[in-house]
Amino acid sequence: MVEIRAARVRSLSEQMNQPAEALRQSCRFESDIATPPPPGLVSLSFDDGPEPGATEAILALLDKHQVPASFFLIASKAQRHPELAALVKAHPRALVGNHSWSHPNFHDIPAVRQASEVERSDATLAALQAPKLFRYPYGNASCEANADLQQRGYRIVGWHVDSCDWAFDKTGSIDAHEAKICGVDKANREHFIDHVVAAVKARRGGIVLMHEIHPNTLAKLDTLIERLLAEGFRFAPLNAAEFEPSLR
Ligand SMILES: [Zn+2]
Repeated sequence: MVEIRAARVRSLSEQMNQPAEALRQSCRFESDIATPPPPGLVSLSFDDGPEPGATEAILALLDKHQVPASFFLIASKAQRHPELAALVKAHPRALVGNHSWSHPNFHDIPAVRQASEVERSDATLAALQAPKLFRYPYGNASCEANADLQQRGYRIVGWHVDSCDWAFDKTGSIDAHEAKICGVDKANREHFIDHVVAAVKARRGGIVLMHEIHPNTLAKLDTLIERLLAEGFRFAPLNAAEFEPSLR
């Protein structure tokens, strides 16, 4: 958990301190989608599963509210919990996405290891995927892996809204430094749901990044979906035509 936090904080800091053109040419930080989402439309996504207990609970909430979501699975975890991966695949409102084999930071590993991460995860998850969707761990991309993934028929998926649930995590509040890099209003530092609703409203919808592994996210998801529905947002899966321009 400390590692996840450190990697995200480092990426966000680097991203803020580099010229836009240099960032574009390096392919390093393409996961924050710059183009606007389809207005009023939300697509929920959950990374880092499958997670016993959490995966089933999220699927049940999709049934309760009749909303779709995508699950970007870590392939080595999917191999350890094939029954959970199968549950996601079988669910009518869920899509399986690929979130690498072992969740490394692609900025810290050589191209040959990036290629093996893509190859192993593709071998494990391809049969569960239609369409083939990939999300980089920490959102940290590379030009080499982009080309590899596209050759394998993947669309690469970022996000419009980072829920920053990794920062709120267990206690439900985040510190001042994390609030700054996550763009969390001071008033919402102890209010995860208010933060996510405000962030979705600011983008007028979009792909929302969350994680299966954070207890706070699970505890608040029911209310979060209710709030977004009450605000008039509609939900669509990532393979809806409206989200086509948001994928790479
Ligand atoms: Zn992840």
